[in-house]
Amino acid sequence: MKYFSTSKKAPEATLQEAVVRGLAPDKGLYMPERIKQLPQEFFERMPSMTLQEIAYYVADAFFGEDVPADKLRQIVYDTLNFEIPLVKVTENIYSLELFHGPTLAFKDVGARFMARLLAHFNKEQVNVLVATSGDTGSAVANGFLGVEGIHVYVLYPKGKVSRLQEAQFTTLGQNITAIEVDGTFDDCQALVKNAFMDTELNAHMRLTSANSINVARFIPQSFYYFWAVAQLLNHSQLSTVVCVPSGNFGNITSGLFGKRMGLSIKRFIAANNRNDVFFRYLQSGDYEPHPTIATYANAMDVSDPSNFVRLLELYGSYEAVKADISGATYTDKQIADTIRQCYKDNNYLLDPHGACGYRALQEGLQPDEVGIFLETAHPAKFKDRVDKILNADIAIPAKLQAFMKGQKQTVPMANNFAAFKQYLIRN
Ligand SMILES: *Cc1c(COP(=O)(O)O)cnc(C)c1O
Repeated sequence: MKYFSTSKKAPEATLQEAVVRGLAPDKGLYMPERIKQLPQEFFERMPSMTLQEIAYYVADAFFGEDVPADKLRQIVYDTLNFEIPLVKVTENIYSLELFHGPTLAFKDVGARFMARLLAHFNKEQVNVLVATSGDTGSAVANGFLGVEGIHVYVLYPKGKVSRLQEAQFTTLGQNITAIEVDGTFDDCQALVKNAFMDTELNAHMRLTSANSINVARFIPQSFYYFWAVAQLLNHSQLSTVVCVPSGNFGNITSGLFGKRMGLSIKRFIAANNRNDVFFRYLQSGDYEPHPTIATYANAMDVSDPSNFVRLLELYGSYEAVKADISGATYTDKQIADTIRQCYKDNNYLLDPHGACGYRALQEGLQPDEVGIFLETAHPAKFKDRVDKILNADIAIPAKLQAFMKGQKQTVPMANNFAAFKQYLIRN
């Protein structure tokens, strides 16, 4: 299968090229040239298949031509070594709990898949550089942990990441190095960007990024939409609506790929916090980014979602987008009210991102519809906030506690490219 760039100015790439590059040379995002329609026979069989069986079937439709069957199966099964339960919250609203992986967030799925696919394609040592303001670093570091032939350098701003987040990428050891930069997140990003552009450094060592626009992180997210619908089919025959708390719009676009492959989802809702460029686009047809606003659902604090171009490429027109997707936007107060209300009414604990998803279903479902929202992270990842909202002391799962008990190991780094470069060359 070939991959083309959404900017249409770069040549088509193989899967290997697309995975190693991440972004196309013309700065576009890679798209698979074909999205296969899956046979009716598969959809009929789906409710009796396991998560891994379904995921492998979908993975084969994208990657089967380029990765040997045994290898692909192994990558899929290794990636999905945790549960993704569909939990009933109200009579017609279900939560797809994507937080049972190593870092308790949905990004584990894409990061773990990408690490294994990259290791498959790379025969020599490769170094992944990633700048993080918190959550991406943990998903990438844990996704790549122990994967042979790959070393990960996580750059993060000293003192600007919560202790819980920091523990998830500074205590791992093995092939993960955490670099504590005396600067801001933007400084970390600039150091990484400079490293990718430095000829001498690139001649000395193989560098790659693991950012979220990579096809190997993006496409595997479609697996769990099939799994969610398969589980729901055992409970309900109503039309399915899927609501996705959205920031960069990678997650929802993966779901839209599933629909294109024949998955019976009637429509989607993209739930935003106050960073609602997509919501406004749906109202007016104009795409007008505003400056980013800090909110309780901070992983969705994105003013100009990178995957919007993929979504447009998939649909081709504003009218087509509007026919399948509606939007919602919530303030911090609404997010807090929703967490409180849902806990009181259903005894179900939402995180601030999932709260946007739940609320949009509560407000938007028709009587003949059943809704699934994606619970994208465990509420304990936002413990300080959720505790304040509920006036409680919510439990921290053992997995998170284990990170907190680990020994912090970091490399202190000045906000200075020459120093960073020298460090990479000497190590
Ligand atoms: C990254 C993230 C999102 C947003 O996902 P996109 O694919 O960027 O739209 C939502 N919730 C959580 C918890 C996240 O970490």
